[in-house]
Amino acid sequence: MKIVRHGTNPSQTPNADYFTGNVRMDTPFDAEAPGRVGGVTVTFEPGARTAWHTHPLGQTLIVTSGVGWAQREGGPREEIRPGDVVWFPPGERHWHGATGDTAMTHIAIAEALDGSRVTWEEHVTDAEYLAG
Ligand code: MN
Repeated sequence: MKIVRHGTNPSQTPNADYFTGNVRMDTPFDAEAPGRVGGVTVTFEPGARTAWHTHPLGQTLIVTSGVGWAQREGGPREEIRPGDVVWFPPGERHWHGATGDTAMTHIAIAEALDGSRVTWEEHVTDAEYLAG
């Protein structure tokens, strides 16, 4: 058994190539082989969101605070709230983040395929974000 104590690792700011706005990542976890699951708690300030992306083996989000938006390509922008669990199937292009005026925190969980959990694409434009 291994316990990683809260506060052991400093908060991190993700690569701006893959996010818009102010985003913080905390308490990352990463299974030891042969496990493949990993994740992180992500906090988006109002207006902040991921870029468009896909996950090779899918992704689960568990919203823990605030109010957010999530959208798959070709679908409506959906509001997500604490306690909601969101599943994106493998390869489904999507984005997730805060709403325009409220922060949102979720735990993001995904399994790795050949060492990768995500494929990043272009930023979500303001027009895409606000249009929903
Ligand atoms: Mn995702």
